[in-house]
Amino acid sequence: MGDLAFLASLGTMPGLMRQLRSLGGCITPIRLDGERTDIHPATGEILGELRSSDLPAGNLLVRCNNRRATRCAACAETYRRDTYQLITAGLRGGKGTPEQVATHPRVFATFTAPSFGPVHNRPGRRHGSMTDRLLTVEQAAQLLGTTARFPRRLIAERRIAFVKVERHVRIPEGALADFVAANTVQPIITRRRHLGVVA
Ligand SMILES: [Zn+2]
Repeated sequence: MGDLAFLASLGTMPGLMRQLRSLGGCITPIRLDGERTDIHPATGEILGELRSSDLPAGNLLVRCNNRRATRCAACAETYRRDTYQLITAGLRGGKGTPEQVATHPRVFATFTAPSFGPVHNRPGRRHGSMTDRLLTVEQAAQLLGTTARFPRRLIAERRIAFVKVERHVRIPEGALADFVAANTVQPIITRRRHLGVVA
């Protein structure tokens, strides 16, 4: 009780309570470190700024959203309820699905994921199929508008997929496309986020 009184005296209690409420009982929240700036898309006016270090917990806490009850009971329960709502909406309508859906024939279909490509625990696309054109470092540099040093550094730092053709190094076109996509910043956004997971 003394601790609570002390916390209350810091004046950070409302913020802390807000943060805890937004977690909805998540016991393993992800701690984000960084800043966010809300910018008006037309005028460029800064509408608000958030710095994780200014927050009561020192980090921005977000729900882990884990589906396994053994990891986080609260998030798994949210997932379970969402799934229930999704299925019932598909069977009898609601949540934006028209009610005549209830008259449709029902099929319980299961799909084997690999036919849709790699899923789960496989960050990024895998390269190495022969449909990808293999680019030299110079060609990759030309496409990136940089000198050859830059793709060489990406390779050295293992930041891009590459193929070893004996003592030659080649970059699959798809790997380059992924790199460009992953580093593309869209021009008109209302929010500029720079938040990273705290290790
Ligand atoms: Zn959780």
